[in-house]
Amino acid sequence: MNNPLLEPFDQAPFSKIKNEHFHPAITNAIDLAKKEIDAIVYNTDTPTFENTIAALDYSGYQLDRVSSIFFNLNSAETNEAIQKIAQEVSPLLSEFSNDITLNEGLFKKIKSVYEQKDALGLSTEEETLLNKRYKSFSRNGANLPNDKKQRLREIDTQLAKLKLTFGENLLAETNAFEMHLTNQEDLNGLPDGAKEAASQLAKSKNKEGWLITLDYPSYIPFMKYASNRELRKELALAFGSKGFKGNSLDNQENVLAIAKLRHERANLLGYKTHADFVLEERMAEKPEKVISFLNELQEKAKPAAIKEFKQLEDFAKELDGIGQLEKWDNSYYSEKLKQKLFSLDDELLKPYFKLENVIDGVFKVAEKLFGLQFKEVFNVDKYHEEVKTFEVYDEDQNFVSLFYADFHPRSGKRGGAWMTSFKSQFRKNGEEYRPHVSNVCNFTPSTPTKPSLLTFNEVTTLFHEFGHGLHGMLADTIYPSLSGTSVYWDFVELPSQILENWCYEKETLELFAKHYDTGELIPMDLIQKIKDSASFQEGMATLRQISFAKLDMAWHSNDPTPITNVKSFEKESFEGTNLFPDTPQTCMSTAFAHIFQGGYSSGYYSYKWAEVLDADAFAYFKEHGIFNKVIAKDFKYHVLSKGGTEKPMILYKRFRGTEPKISALLERGGLITA
Ligand SMILES: [Zn+2]
Repeated sequence: MNNPLLEPFDQAPFSKIKNEHFHPAITNAIDLAKKEIDAIVYNTDTPTFENTIAALDYSGYQLDRVSSIFFNLNSAETNEAIQKIAQEVSPLLSEFSNDITLNEGLFKKIKSVYEQKDALGLSTEEETLLNKRYKSFSRNGANLPNDKKQRLREIDTQLAKLKLTFGENLLAETNAFEMHLTNQEDLNGLPDGAKEAASQLAKSKNKEGWLITLDYPSYIPFMKYASNRELRKELALAFGSKGFKGNSLDNQENVLAIAKLRHERANLLGYKTHADFVLEERMAEKPEKVISFLNELQEKAKPAAIKEFKQLEDFAKELDGIGQLEKWDNSYYSEKLKQKLFSLDDELLKPYFKLENVIDGVFKVAEKLFGLQFKEVFNVDKYHEEVKTFEVYDEDQNFVSLFYADFHPRSGKRGGAWMTSFKSQFRKNGEEYRPHVSNVCNFTPSTPTKPSLLTFNEVTTLFHEFGHGLHGMLADTIYPSLSGTSVYWDFVELPSQILENWCYEKETLELFAKHYDTGELIPMDLIQKIKDSASFQEGMATLRQISFAKLDMAWHSNDPTPITNVKSFEKESFEGTNLFPDTPQTCMSTAFAHIFQGGYSSGYYSYKWAEVLDADAFAYFKEHGIFNKVIAKDFKYHVLSKGGTEKPMILYKRFRGTEPKISALLERGGLITA
């Protein structure tokens, strides 16, 4: 069989790949990686850093390439066949990675290098790699007796399957729901663009009227603008009950099983809880530190949140006589209140944020800060016609990266926005391998009469994901496993979140925020309003983030064995952070993909943690000019290019000159005054 994934390739050969190529390509790449590892283990020379640690880091290249293509497609352009293959290959992959981490011969060699590390004269990057590799073995049971090693393998296989099922259930729940409206009045309050999109969607499914779905571009405008409170309630309950309906797509058992298996795994390895295990390799280090960090923030944010809630409540009562404010009233009245206070409406801003202009703007920011140039190219193979491709060059015309951008929702794409890559950066034998980075989002698509116009929130999302993208693109390390975004999880959001700050600056908006029709620059009073409104309901938003982070810590920093009821456990965890009445039909945990499907378990706090970092770092830019080239160069050199080659606190201090302080964030959000 002619299989493009079995032949050498640099750019992912999407157009040549058929579904039946994946399984053989992955098994073949696993075999190849096994041979490379055997060559390390059975090498009769004395173990050295080069023949063991470096060789191991360079092994499995083909497998990385093939599996990143496959799993990126499973997120961005999936179908039943791909999901079925994922179910088949996931256990093979976790078995393979367990085979490595439980390979005693290999561990013996690594340990022998590790034990003589002080005598080896290693560079900082080499020492980091050696420590990381040694820990990756010990943290995966290399020092365990055989029966416990066996149990660890069973747990990992089960967890991989459970996480996949959790995600598939969520996607199926999202796709299964539609709210079919045939009465024009039911759309009252919605902006024309949202009405048009709903009508388009109905037409595409051969239906009369309008369709509202649980995809963000459909769901969010409806919750924000639809004046029919009953319909907002119906939609909110559908959204909030994903994986919690007692049907075949229910995630409650999956959540319980995942939490319990994670705890058992941590115990097996000698850690008190899953959070203790995870946080050992984080900037925060201990669950106690995370919890006290969250409590400190909660203490500062709660008084503001209560005040803001009261203000919202009074406003809704005055406007519509609403007695008890419910979850489905939040966006609707918040938007109206925001309009009243700032007369700033998403619809007023959107004409200035045509997608193409925003992309151009983020490229200009990257050029002004880091000297990067983005050149759109049309000869790069892609997995969907909507994907745009760019070549990225530095000031000296050196090739930096390939960049894929995939911006609009499709039925086979999961919700949200993310950065990923099809190829990592590294250097081997003096040869430079440059990365292939991708941003995938779910932005409002164009309609027959309007181009894609982004909400301001979508603009900051684009900058955010692009910030992750820069972390990948500007990577400059020797070893692939330390490259780009391969950093501690509570550090990984710094490059993304800091970039969002530029969206609020006049100097940035002047570069690209031009009316799609008239070309008129965004009026200065709108810019001022964007800034003024940026900290609108900051207390409530902070409290909400804290509630998610605390739910995550509740699941993972205690023994979950006694938990039988997901909903009541969750309710207890939300106490103290809840402003709206609970709705018994909804559940956060059963749709909390970050922690039960993705990699954020015991790590949700890192969003706020990174906000402390980004506010502190951006304050440094503000002080010296937001396009200050010296500071940008330092940020690129000490943070973006360094990946995980050193501990994040060391990198950060080298850039900033001092440890980050919480005050810049509190000031930025108006929770304290400077
Ligand atoms: Zn992010």
